Amino acid sequence: MTPSRHQPPPGLAAAFDLSGKVAIVTGGNGGIGLAIARGLAAAGAGIVIAGRSDEKNRRAERDLAEAGATVMALNADVTREEDCKRLAAEAFAAFGRIDILVNNAGTNVRKQPEEYSLEEWHMLLDANLTSAFLATMAVFPMMKRTGGKIINIGSMTSLFGAGFAAPYGASKGGVVQLTKALASAWAQHGIRVNAILPGWIETDLTIRGRAATPHLHDQVIARTPAGRWGRPDDLAAAAVFLAGPGSDFVTGIALPVDGGYAAQA
Ligand code: NDP
Repeated sequence: MTPSRHQPPPGLAAAFDLSGKVAIVTGGNGGIGLAIARGLAAAGAGIVIAGRSDEKNRRAERDLAEAGATVMALNADVTREEDCKRLAAEAFAAFGRIDILVNNAGTNVRKQPEEYSLEEWHMLLDANLTSAFLATMAVFPMMKRTGGKIINIGSMTSLFGAGFAAPYGASKGGVVQLTKALASAWAQHGIRVNAILPGWIETDLTIRGRAATPHLHDQVIARTPAGRWGRPDDLAAAAVFLAGPGSDFVTGIALPVDGGYAAQA
């Protein structure tokens, strides 16, 4: 038997349609952020990517433009309040609206808990959690008028303890609680706030981890029911769903996209 071919029910295609919408993706110049930016662009959104490296920004901007996206790259360090305000202001000036914010920028330093300096602790909390707070507060005045969608990128360490990543896990646990608090506070403004929790994904971030931890590559495959590492593109469709009108009744969730990692005992 061949599967039936049929038109999607009325409204289903519209559920994922981002035409006319504008999305800011922090850390959108590489890895998971760039894949999410590609997905949002393919669904019709105009894209603003933000990162600290001009070279990575330019390269990603060119890649997205060649794929047909309307895109602008801005240099911003999202641990800095003034950069976040400038990012939101320049995105709004260029596009006239901000509908979607993906708080994706982040980093990690792996070591035993007792080996972190206070400076490293603050750096990791700032990069992964305070950054999401600052970028969100910068877009709030625009989103409050129009409604919007905020997607925060958490981690499996939002759920599980990782002995080699105490500040990272604390920051990513905080990302989920920030998500729930904002979802509760801002549903009245038509702002939906959700998190995506990636499993182990092949990016620059985890290449560093694999270099430092000899058996990590095989351990991840053994621990992941899907039997493979994730690819950045695995995250794109979940982000499109949470950015689009199809998820208007979804807020405050933390969605694992992890090949079953979080499900397995
Ligand atoms: P990458 O290292 O590939 O990308 C990180 C991105 O964040 C880069 O674009 C970087 O750009 C940007 N960035 C970092 N710090 C800042 C900052 N202060 N201001 C602005 N931009 C910044 O990592 P991934 O793609 O793997 O990670 C993306 C997100 O996904 C992170 O939040 C990470 O914690 C999370 N994650 C990743 C997993 C994985 O397995 N890869 C698993 C779970 C979660 P630039 O250098 O130009 O500033």
